[in-house]
Amino acid sequence: MKHIVAFASGLVAAAALTQGSAAKMNVVTTTTMVTDMVKEVGGDRVSVVGLMGPGVDPHLYKPASGDVVKLQRAKVIFYSGLMLEGRMSDLFFRMARTGKKVYAVTESIPEKDRLEPPEFEGHWDPHVWGDPTLWSKCIATVVEGLSQGDPAGRPYYTKRGLGVVESYKDVHQWALKRIAGIPKKQRVLLTSHDAFNYFGKAFGFQVVAVQGLSTVSEAGLADITKTVDFIKSKNLKAIFVESSVNPAAIERVSKDAGVKIGGELFSDACGKPGEMHEGQGEKYDVGTFVGMVKHNINTIVDALK
Ligand SMILES: [Zn+2]
Repeated sequence: MKHIVAFASGLVAAAALTQGSAAKMNVVTTTTMVTDMVKEVGGDRVSVVGLMGPGVDPHLYKPASGDVVKLQRAKVIFYSGLMLEGRMSDLFFRMARTGKKVYAVTESIPEKDRLEPPEFEGHWDPHVWGDPTLWSKCIATVVEGLSQGDPAGRPYYTKRGLGVVESYKDVHQWALKRIAGIPKKQRVLLTSHDAFNYFGKAFGFQVVAVQGLSTVSEAGLADITKTVDFIKSKNLKAIFVESSVNPAAIERVSKDAGVKIGGELFSDACGKPGEMHEGQGEKYDVGTFVGMVKHNINTIVDALK
């Protein structure tokens, strides 16, 4: 109790509220990237339940019956948005109509910064987290949403939010330095689906996907032939599989083109929380957004340089 007394008087009530887990604000999120962001910003004041685990494809994810109950019990809901969670849109709409606080974190991404790839005319590309600095803009929505649900926590969320923005910008700078080691003409990233357009723009990569922007449609024979021709013409050193997408198409392309698979990238989901990877003499938790970026960059740089 002694240390609580030391707090500024206005904070005493708030500090007392965070003593037991029962007093924490109940928040539900969708993808692992959103879950990690909300946990980082929410700290000790929130209890976060992420509906989608590692390796789960958000394009295809259908809410389970238990998910609806979790969403109903939540004080605040955060999802990624821009149609990423295509099969959950109706549910979020219905929840919002009942007065629930529901936020798409990408709503704070200015339209000028959103990509609209020609293959998906009329839709924004939802894979914003490929650019860590751009993804950091979503933190503003999380700070606001948490503060709406828990007004007393606003200074806490604001302060933590600024720290998380810094950590995303730091990993962006770190990535730029790592990528400088790959000759410019070798900066071609070939993966299963179009999850890396923002990544390509941020880090100067040409990005090619066997499959389209969503994973709903599977790669056809024509896609595979076209990809094999491309690899041969560019003399690519490696191509990559994704943790949340069936690797069959990439494995087929790898065999047909005689090119190695450079590793597995986290595209639409982070890794398992607490799973430590090592690269560049550094250990990082691939269950976090920052660890996901480090894993992806180290995998790409090691395979292509
Ligand atoms: Zn995707």
